[in-house]
Amino acid sequence: MRVLLTGGSGFIAAHCVDYLLQGGHSVVFTVRSHDKGRKILSNHPKASEDQLSYVIVEDIANESAFDEAVKSNPPFEAVLHTASPFHFNVKDPKKDLLDPAIIGTTGILKAIQRNAPSVKRVVITSSFAAIVNAKKHPETYDEASWNPITMDEALHTDPGSAYRGSKTFAEKAAWEFVEKEKPNFTVSTINPPLVLGPVVHYFNSLDSINTSNENVRDFVQGKFKDGLPPTRVILWVDVRDLALAHVRAIERPEAAGKRFFVTAGFFNNAKVADIIKKNFPDLKSKLPQNYEEDPKEYPYKIDNSRSKEVLGLQYRSLEDSITDLVKSLQAAGA
Ligand code: NDP
Repeated sequence: MRVLLTGGSGFIAAHCVDYLLQGGHSVVFTVRSHDKGRKILSNHPKASEDQLSYVIVEDIANESAFDEAVKSNPPFEAVLHTASPFHFNVKDPKKDLLDPAIIGTTGILKAIQRNAPSVKRVVITSSFAAIVNAKKHPETYDEASWNPITMDEALHTDPGSAYRGSKTFAEKAAWEFVEKEKPNFTVSTINPPLVLGPVVHYFNSLDSINTSNENVRDFVQGKFKDGLPPTRVILWVDVRDLALAHVRAIERPEAAGKRFFVTAGFFNNAKVADIIKKNFPDLKSKLPQNYEEDPKEYPYKIDNSRSKEVLGLQYRSLEDSITDLVKSLQAAGA
């Protein structure tokens, strides 16, 4: 298939490129600058221009951002929309997080409908942020669970709420678009919690590493040597399993029209510290020495069976993910 991948410079998108190419697909990714585009191409010296190229999309918060990018010759058959801001450096929640997430999602769907009639499959990276109900966890989270956050809470609480709102309202807008417009393509959403794993994407320095890997970078740099920090997000998935989920969702017809809660399960910072200690003895002095045992109970259950049954996912272990992440951070200078 010929695939348009948005947010090509991102942590997750970089792994999507790998799995798309491995699957024999040809990929056009979007980036905000030629500098980023060229650097990403240089990571794939064996890919021909037909197999991998890029197009500039500067700001997905612009309603018409994707109008030209969705046009291609040969035409696109599928779109993976991963681009969306994931950070908490928020001055203006609407401008910094909500607009790019929501307008980015509706903008690409409208652009496909208007300008890319050959597209049959659209896969959108949503999030566990669109599933979780932090005020009252259900007994079990699955694809039927929705974050009940209001726009007022997203705009006026804190940066975490603004991010969770951005993902919730963007995903809702996608499903509403499908329901109202009945487009010529199907939509699937992929809803991961914290994503960990090797960093292979474009980034300037370890200081600007993507948000979900900051915690493990901080372990490696000795920031927690005086004490283990609390675990904020307690569910995780490896980035390679997540990238494969995106690619399978465009390949498998039975994935159409579905949400996928893609998670390997629970984790915590004690487990992360144990894994780093065991696999990287040289880093022992940078890690906390004494910390509490793992919690034996978590506040809810999870059901990830749809991701296994429909997408055929077999989740990697936390040990594989953390070990490969630390190796990649060391290769980047940590
Ligand atoms: P990254 O920050 O590495 O990637 C985000 C991508 O979105 C980058 O390519 C970035 O471009 C692009 N982007 C952000 N804002 C804009 C904008 N206004 N205009 C154009 N491009 C923009 O994060 P991840 O790879 O982790 O995240 C990718 C997706 O996965 C997001 O949708 C995120 O919400 C979702 N997700 C991530 C999780 C995680 O733990 N990592 C968990 C759940 C969901 P640039 O580099 O130029 O800024």
